[in-house]
Amino acid sequence: MTETERKIQLHGRIFITGSIEIVTGLHIRSARRALAIGGLDNPVVRDPLTNRPYIPGSSLKGKLRSLLEKHYNKSQQWAMGGVRIHACYKFDEKGNRIPDEEAYLNCQVCPIFGIPAGFAVLPTRLIVRDVPLDENSAQRLARTRTELPFTEVKWETSLDRVTAAATPRQVERVPAGAIFAPLELVYNVYEESDVDRFLHLLDAMQFLEDDYLGGLGTRGSGKIAFQELSLTVRTRERYLEEKTFEKGLSLRELIVKEEEAMNWLRQTFSW
Ligand SMILES: [Zn+2]
Repeated sequence: MTETERKIQLHGRIFITGSIEIVTGLHIRSARRALAIGGLDNPVVRDPLTNRPYIPGSSLKGKLRSLLEKHYNKSQQWAMGGVRIHACYKFDEKGNRIPDEEAYLNCQVCPIFGIPAGFAVLPTRLIVRDVPLDENSAQRLARTRTELPFTEVKWETSLDRVTAAATPRQVERVPAGAIFAPLELVYNVYEESDVDRFLHLLDAMQFLEDDYLGGLGTRGSGKIAFQELSLTVRTRERYLEEKTFEKGLSLRELIVKEEEAMNWLRQTFSW
């Protein structure tokens, strides 16, 4: 068995489930603009069938990645879907980009979040599911009189920095207090060091709570909080048996128990 084959054997999965509370209104793009945008930096969009806003997994994952890249001062040298991301690669003798496996293994970002598809055979640990609007929140918002279904419309004035002309514009937001759930982060464990790497994911979640999701964050929108978090594991040997570390934690509570959680994970995987 070669080194690479051994590495991509799945030992099990770690799940973080819970909910996302909208602490300050979450900016949402109009359907017209959202359709024109692809890639990592999608803000909140609407489900075309129900009209309900939801948080695309790609948007959440992209934001977590970007915050981790900034924290570790990674060069964002890969252009992708209108944004630049960091990726561990090097050039071969012919000048082609190839995965830089050594850099990758020491990277805080790439093993968790992956490197661009079609480029690398190295596995990605993290899967982030779309997060729908929680049913109770949806019903509450449906009863509230808002200009648009489930969202509020704010008028905001943007100032042209050259002409100083003020232009009013419409800003659509999911109101503060709304809950998006279920949140589900799935973390694949391929090797022992993945348990240590898992801490970077918790870091990234903390960075996001301290930053914002969606647009207009520097002007107050998009503060979120991770709530009701559960940490569970399924191991390869006993995949149908879900083991739970703890349930109902805020992110802060989970981070306080970080060391305990790490020990529990190592024990659960028998490392
Ligand atoms: Zn990297």
